[in-house]
Amino acid sequence: AKPTIFVITPTYARLVQKAELTRLSQTFLHVPQLHWIVVEDSPHKTPLVTDLLVKSGLTYTHLHMPTAKDRKLQESDPSWLKPRGVEQRNEGLRWLREDRRAQPGGDNQQGVVYFADDDNTYSLQIFEEMRSTQRVSVWPVGLVGGMKYERPVVEGGKVVRFHTGWRPSRPFPMDMAGFAVSLKLVLANPEACFDGDAPMGFLESSFLQGLVTMDELEPKADSCSKVLVWHTRTEKPKMKREEALQAQGLGSDR
Ligand code: UDP
Ligand code: MN
Repeated sequence: AKPTIFVITPTYARLVQKAELTRLSQTFLHVPQLHWIVVEDSPHKTPLVTDLLVKSGLTYTHLHMPTAKDRKLQESDPSWLKPRGVEQRNEGLRWLREDRRAQPGGDNQQGVVYFADDDNTYSLQIFEEMRSTQRVSVWPVGLVGGMKYERPVVEGGKVVRFHTGWRPSRPFPMDMAGFAVSLKLVLANPEACFDGDAPMGFLESSFLQGLVTMDELEPKADSCSKVLVWHTRTEKPKMKREEALQAQGLGSDR
């Protein structure tokens, strides 16, 4: 059997949430052997996400973990001020480790873990690329870091450095969407998680540092020459007219 891909997605309530999750779930429907771990940034599971998952046709686990108040990005904050989705990804990892321990049989360690934000764009091919991950596999990410793409640079089949516009000296100067980790490695390192206190840009490194070295990285996507995932971001919709109607008591309630 193909190894299962466990996709961990943090998500939070906002106007575009249902649209993002609809698009994402319909991408995942095309991927065989995928288990979606959705972690809501919320003190409870919301009806919107519950209903969407029930109707999705996917194999999923629905979790929630609110971001601590002092870590939560405020409306007025620039988006880079605080890392986003940290507690949720860690909760996904916690669930996965516990769940796998409880599974009987020898293949409970087989699988791949991928962190997929709800607003990015994923080609179907990237999932087949990552499925053969032995430890940590890597590939380019499009539209990120103020560049057309960032990517690991491969020479002689090995990653030798990173093409990035910003702090290339970081241990792993890669976006969250640019790597996958084998389940075996995640289980063998029960302490590995994302450090919300890591300096800006070091979140990915905080997780990967204890798990691999650069020369162990497995380049995918044709020696990291193809962009198969994009760090797209959805514009926040303007609600000027909605608010005007609301003021007259004529607004829509959802
Ligand atoms: N997210 C979250 N809580 C928040 C903000 C973001 O759970 O308060 C999630 C979001 O749904 C996404 C991930 O964390 O899956 C990364 O957030 P975002 O896409 O806003 O980050 P960026 O694209 O700016 O890196
Ligand atoms: Mn995003």
